Amino acid sequence: MQETLARRMETFRRECVERGLAVTHQRAVIYEALARSHDHPTPEAVYETVREKIPSISLATVYKNIRAFEEAGLLRQVTPLHESVRLDANLSDHHHLVCLRCKSVTDLPADSIEPVRVKGRLPTRFRVERFNVEVLGLCARCASSQ
Ligand SMILES: [Zn+2]
Ligand SMILES: [Zn+2]
Repeated sequence: MQETLARRMETFRRECVERGLAVTHQRAVIYEALARSHDHPTPEAVYETVREKIPSISLATVYKNIRAFEEAGLLRQVTPLHESVRLDANLSDHHHLVCLRCKSVTDLPADSIEPVRVKGRLPTRFRVERFNVEVLGLCARCASSQ
């Protein structure tokens, strides 16, 4: 886990430098909160975590930086269509286990699923960038409390 964090922070610093994004203390704290997370937090949850270190920070600032990270490719949204935004600092190819009850989102390595390929014809000019499988079900905790 620690190794993952170190690697994510290294990527963050490198990408910021390459994109001319200043690595401010504020940005580093926000990104570290994301890099430490494995539960695909909402921006509001990230804000709560960051506030423990920077009590004066505003939610608007956190939103603004999250957007900048997304534009820099340092962050993805799990599924932009969900009613609440869930953020993902895991930039490797992977899928998700989504709990239908508590809405927890857990990473599933890409090799846990057979490679996804297009079989039929896609609408003209649709350019595929990547496949993201969402495995819908109940997490262990929700399944056992049924
Ligand atoms: Zn659950
Ligand atoms: Zn993920």
